[in-house]
Amino acid sequence: MVKRIAILGSTGSIGTQALEVIDQHPAIFKVEVLTAMNQADLLISQAIQYKPSHVVIGDETKYELVKNALSGLNIVVHAGAKSLEEVVTLNSVDIVLTALVGYAGLLPTVKAIQAGKPIALANKETLVVAGGLIMPLAKKMGVPILPVDSEHSAIFQCLMGESHNPIEKIILTASGGPFRGFTKDQLANVTRAQALKHPNWTMGAKITIDSASLMNKGLEVIEAAWLFDVEASQIEVVVHPQSIVHSLVQFEDGSIKAQLGLPDMKLPIQFALGYPNRIKSDFPRFDFRHYPSLTFEQADVDTFRNLGFAFKALDQGGNMACILNAANEIAVGAFLKEEIGFVQMSDLLEHCMVHGTFLAHPTLEDYIETDLLTRKMAQNWVEINNKK
Ligand code: MG
Repeated sequence: MVKRIAILGSTGSIGTQALEVIDQHPAIFKVEVLTAMNQADLLISQAIQYKPSHVVIGDETKYELVKNALSGLNIVVHAGAKSLEEVVTLNSVDIVLTALVGYAGLLPTVKAIQAGKPIALANKETLVVAGGLIMPLAKKMGVPILPVDSEHSAIFQCLMGESHNPIEKIILTASGGPFRGFTKDQLANVTRAQALKHPNWTMGAKITIDSASLMNKGLEVIEAAWLFDVEASQIEVVVHPQSIVHSLVQFEDGSIKAQLGLPDMKLPIQFALGYPNRIKSDFPRFDFRHYPSLTFEQADVDTFRNLGFAFKALDQGGNMACILNAANEIAVGAFLKEEIGFVQMSDLLEHCMVHGTFLAHPTLEDYIETDLLTRKMAQNWVEINNKK
């Protein structure tokens, strides 16, 4: 049986690597839907190569361009973010890979779960923003959420065969990013170009900045809490610069399981798409002779404040993580435009967490409203504090 896949965000880092995985296994996987926000040219060339039955271009001004380029190929072309909510429900889709960036993943993911589609989740922001809605909905619909994030894939793999055993603790590994070991003063002066240089992983711009600030690890803490139903106090972050041990689970007898591998996103992508089967691959293998020592050190939450904010947001619950996420999306955007400095991103997050309206039991509409209001608040802060 061929698995027919909808890839939301096919032109991004995860999307293009997913297509490489699919290329290797034409007898197992077929591309059914491809979607992109802006990159029409790449979407067109992907559609010509993979012949999905539907494509979506988010930017509606590019609809004619895509439509004309694909005419005669028997591909239905849609435009606009709303279309994502339709294509994920198609009968011909067996699994949805959510590889789009940020909050934009929330509504299509909700629709896909409501339609009973298994989710290969690469969009961690969906769970960060609204894990309290997504996880119960997935449970109700009997839909598996298969994590693509390497750390969460590792934890998921450690938990296979352990469903009857409670988790004592999850240990999330972090590479530490390009600024590992930096002091507060050093961090204050880092540039956009430095922040975009990750030592181990090749990823999109947003997640690379989040990795440099340890916000990515903070978002992953929240993601892990929802995926594996654990409290903030049961999650520990450990810096592991080699990025070989992808994460660990400690059980109540004190035993710890870990999953290891080279830092290559194709492995967790393939695992999620192929689940429950491990598909034979020719990915490069780990060789201990190239890694004579694997090291671990404590994460520095005083210097990298965003990680501390994430634990705080998780503890507070309600819509606080939604506030944190929206503020962070604006902060990263402003930093990439060089409107604010690196540590100012943390000041902005703190501002929004303090001044945002806290709701203990938000509905989906509340999350949408919180996201909108926080973005406005954050944008105002950027305008006032713009260093240009
Ligand atoms: Mg990760």
